[in-house]
Amino acid sequence: MRTVYAEIDFAAALHGIAVEPCGMKKKAIFTTSWDDGHPLDTRIAELLSRHGFQGTFYVPLSNREGLPVMPPEEMRRLGRGFEIGSHTIDHCYLKTVGAVEARNQIVGGKNQLEQILGHGVSGFCYPGGDYTLEHRQIVIDAGFDYARTIVNFYRTLPADPFGMPTTLQYYPHARSVLVRNFISRGEWARRNDLFCVSLGRGDFASRLRGMLDHVCLHGGVFHLWGHSWELESFDGWRQLDEFLRYAAGRIPVEGRLNNRELLQHAAASGR
Ligand SMILES: [Zn+2]
Repeated sequence: MRTVYAEIDFAAALHGIAVEPCGMKKKAIFTTSWDDGHPLDTRIAELLSRHGFQGTFYVPLSNREGLPVMPPEEMRRLGRGFEIGSHTIDHCYLKTVGAVEARNQIVGGKNQLEQILGHGVSGFCYPGGDYTLEHRQIVIDAGFDYARTIVNFYRTLPADPFGMPTTLQYYPHARSVLVRNFISRGEWARRNDLFCVSLGRGDFASRLRGMLDHVCLHGGVFHLWGHSWELESFDGWRQLDEFLRYAAGRIPVEGRLNNRELLQHAAASGR
């Protein structure tokens, strides 16, 4: 049975004061998710396995932007160790198409992926993180249990299963990009503490560690997400190996979840 998750007092967190609810032990949860189904996802999986972490891979069946996608047998192999979620049929940005095509992409992507894997698929990820309330409803009607977004700087359990936020994209963004993301996505009070931590760390490795340290100190969820195909461009493989080694020393085994398990944990905790 999992440890009861500690609620977080954000007003106190914003003032740098650690508040621990009476009788509850603070806990850090670590989850990762990787988008687009690129063949390099298997290398991400190897690193996660090496350090004892879980992950969810959101895969389309093809990619209309021209990036390669794992062949079906590789998806099945990956699915034996990790959760596989859907990412539409061909990485379709839902806001760029009409409602009929959006439904086809969401429902068809689920059905085709389930045929490949031979079992149900419960997780969905909106390509580009862009969606409307209509798309959200189509995802629900299609039978998914949850959907991940790209909103960052969260450490709370997902309040809306179909708007699962993240903590940080695995990419060394400039501070200006972090500021733009923070401002444009709202809910600033909830995201302010991790945003401030991220701005205070100039290089990517120390930003990752600083944000993880913050979650470990104050409790909550550290949700790292990214694209394997981006890692070649910034020495990302070595840094990910080192960061996961660091995280493995901080996160207990029971706190290492995939996205589906995170949702189940949130539901069991009453969010
Ligand atoms: Zn994507």
